[in-house]
Amino acid sequence: MASVVERSDQYANFLVAPLPAGQGVCQVCHGPANQGFRTCWRCGRAAQQLGTGAADAVVPISLAPKHGQYANELWRYKNTQGHQRQYFQTGLTAVLWRFLALHEACVAEHCTVPGFDVVTIVPSTSGRSVHPLRDMVAEISGVTRRRYRDLLTPTQNAQALGREASPARYSSGALENGEAVLLIDDTWTTGGHAQSAAAALKAAGAGRVAVVVLGRHLNGTYGDTAAHIEQARMRRYDWKVCVLRDGPHG
Ligand SMILES: [Zn+2]
Ligand SMILES: [Zn+2]
Repeated sequence: MASVVERSDQYANFLVAPLPAGQGVCQVCHGPANQGFRTCWRCGRAAQQLGTGAADAVVPISLAPKHGQYANELWRYKNTQGHQRQYFQTGLTAVLWRFLALHEACVAEHCTVPGFDVVTIVPSTSGRSVHPLRDMVAEISGVTRRRYRDLLTPTQNAQALGREASPARYSSGALENGEAVLLIDDTWTTGGHAQSAAAALKAAGAGRVAVVVLGRHLNGTYGDTAAHIEQARMRRYDWKVCVLRDGPHG
């Protein structure tokens, strides 16, 4: 854990804690929401389409503003090779490991389960054979590897669905009655992939499903998003804080 803390400390300079749910902040993905709405348009639509199939908790570790360092790393760990890839992979694993060590209990409490029986990832729909996120969650991270299971596979419909949240995007291996699943993804943009994955897991027998994402991608050139990012950046990143509870804990 010592090296996990050391390696993840380097990220504290550019991680941006998502704003707590409230006025102008989506209570699902913690991105910008229009005034007077509890969720952003995408999360509202996913709830309509998936009903109880939608994730029971969505927990972004950090905002990932487009063109910022964190968003770049989240792209590079997938799109570089060799030493570079390994460097970003170990860094991002340290971020995930440290965050889950401190906050997995909050996520479970939020989902009213004692803990998560199974950990899995949202697979790539772009045909990448082995997703580097799988290595991070299934092999490297000490807090997830013993519970990891390969469950989700994109269906033939996946590409045609675009960004829509749909239970038809993935198929899932069977889960024992009501097993709680911690679903990990690297980037949340519209939530279409992660929400579809949650719905597939529930259709296959999962109970509660929580999504933890490394980065909530935001495009600062769009609407009120720049102001949203600025407001979030005013606060210093604190490892002991997550979006599920007020104040330092963990
Ligand atoms: Zn949202
Ligand atoms: Zn927490």
